[in-house]
Amino acid sequence: MIFSDGLPNYSQPLYRPPSEGNSLIFQITEGCSWNNCSFCGMYISKKFRIKPVEDVKAEIDNLAPYIKERTKRVFLADGDAAVYPTEGLIEILDYLNEKLPKLQRVSVYAGPHALMKKKIPEWEELHKRKLTLLFFGLESGNDEVLKHMNKGMKAGKVLEKAKRIADIGIDFSVMVILGGGGRKLSEQHMLDSAKWISELSPKYASLLTLFLRRKRDYFDSVEKPTMGSLLEESKIFVSNVKPKKGIIFRSNHVSNLVPLKGTLPKSTERLIAEIDEAIKYAKKTGIYDNEPELYEEF
Ligand code: SF4
Repeated sequence: MIFSDGLPNYSQPLYRPPSEGNSLIFQITEGCSWNNCSFCGMYISKKFRIKPVEDVKAEIDNLAPYIKERTKRVFLADGDAAVYPTEGLIEILDYLNEKLPKLQRVSVYAGPHALMKKKIPEWEELHKRKLTLLFFGLESGNDEVLKHMNKGMKAGKVLEKAKRIADIGIDFSVMVILGGGGRKLSEQHMLDSAKWISELSPKYASLLTLFLRRKRDYFDSVEKPTMGSLLEESKIFVSNVKPKKGIIFRSNHVSNLVPLKGTLPKSTERLIAEIDEAIKYAKKTGIYDNEPELYEEF
């Protein structure tokens, strides 16, 4: 079924990274192939399916001429859309390149299962066809936290594979979740995450804050962070990322308490000063020990 307004056919809910706001989105998969992380209910209402290549091609054909003419960036959804079988994905990328004359970049949500499953020559073929950016939810560099999140991966193994993919020239945008380890694992969660990020030195890294998304169990299983502990986590992370090359760092998601923006390590000192200022304010106003209002669904 194709919409007649010249846009791809979307099924809700539809998520995309904030930075892909100007990209044309195609849902080549619907839902998440894993759909099992204990903190995440993003796709809980959707049954996972891989959309047939022919359907995606029909959506590309159906684009309004001015969209075909202008589109420079394409984002492939839903969650972990990189699990799409490589042969079909190559066909889709070839078709996008053929039909969108100004196409510069294709990006995709890539979960650990897609990263591990596809072999390096497959990633090379995808890269040749302008798949040049992977959005990867690391969530934590600490295996105990990952186990609690039921992420289905070991941080070290994924790091090794991610390094090899990055060597091809594919960029990563890696997300870490503040508060994801609860209070008990808070410090180790951030130290290990900073170490993981330093080792990969992805082009982009961001911090989001854990908030309720339809699955309540996880929030009952960890000691909820406070405003103060979340700020301290940001500080531990920013202070301990020692990248091999500059990382564009963002912590300005709607869930974050303080918007942070810079390049690591160039902006490290400024960012720490900004976090210290926020900590000072939280203490002064008595909100340091309060829980943030992140445990109501939004
Ligand atoms: S966090 Fe990502 S991989 Fe895990 S269930 Fe949610 S969408 Fe799927």
